[in-house]
Amino acid sequence: MDTIVLKFGGSSVADNEKLQTVAKKIIKLYDDEKNIVVVVSAQGKMTDELIKQAEELSLKPNKREMDVLLSVGEQITTAKLAILLNYLGYDAISLTGWQAGIHTNSDNQKAKIENIDLTRIEQELEKGKIVVVAGFQGIDENNNITTFGRGGSDTTAVALSAVLKAQKCYIYSDVDGIYTADPNKISNPKKLKNISYEEMKELSSEGAKVLHDRCVEIGEKYNVPIVTESTFNNNPGTEITRKLENSGAKSIVKKDVSRISIIGYGISSTDEILEKILKIANKNGLEIFNIDFTKTKISIVFKEIVKNEILEEFHKELIK
Ligand code: ASP
Ligand code: MG
Repeated sequence: MDTIVLKFGGSSVADNEKLQTVAKKIIKLYDDEKNIVVVVSAQGKMTDELIKQAEELSLKPNKREMDVLLSVGEQITTAKLAILLNYLGYDAISLTGWQAGIHTNSDNQKAKIENIDLTRIEQELEKGKIVVVAGFQGIDENNNITTFGRGGSDTTAVALSAVLKAQKCYIYSDVDGIYTADPNKISNPKKLKNISYEEMKELSSEGAKVLHDRCVEIGEKYNVPIVTESTFNNNPGTEITRKLENSGAKSIVKKDVSRISIIGYGISSTDEILEKILKIANKNGLEIFNIDFTKTKISIVFKEIVKNEILEEFHKELIK
């Protein structure tokens, strides 16, 4: 039977009503005869809230204790989701990071996964259970709880997909994919059908905070197709794979007020994009301070602030 991993982010599991939507998605896929491993984040803003409370107690809370505290957020979600799935007539079991066999180094608050012992997860899948794993956490060699850094549940999901040899890793959130630009900055960016790991890494390094950085690296290393979809609609999302195609400019990001980056494999192999950039810059009286190229990215720092109207113009002219 095929195995798939589904990860639901904090806004997707924020309350009981949202958990119902999540449960429906899970059940539909389970009924399609799949082994399902679900990874969940803490509910809504719970992690922020716990950090705030700890910082009210201490200016510099102990990192080990912070990991004990923050890991609770994810655990609450696993239990609630398992309770609901059981109520709906589906056998589900919640597992903490350590119960799921996720072993890490001892770098509290930014621990790295060292290995995953699948014994328990496989036993539960064998019994036909839906396995719900707490994201963002593991255990070190001295049985201390560790966490992976903000947004780290994505990494749990992709790492589990890698060791389970899952068909795909689905990352569900309140956005349904990767866009040609930030929808908060320009008026109608388009959703990409697919993008490569390499392009995704460039996007993250330019500040597009879509996925936890490490999860894309793990996906690339172990060849896990990552699909980002919305929890709240059935639109096709964006698939992240190894496939690289020379497809011109795919996405544009404004990292800070005067730096824009255009991402797309092979983008700097012709002068076409650069010429267009210079033309638009010229027309808008923007002076270039610095340009950087990689095979997949052109980044330009201007001497002036790039207003969102100009970003819009770049987007219109550069992205097909
Ligand atoms: N709950 C953690 C955070 O808010 C981890 C995650 O959501 O991925 O950063
Ligand atoms: Mg996230």
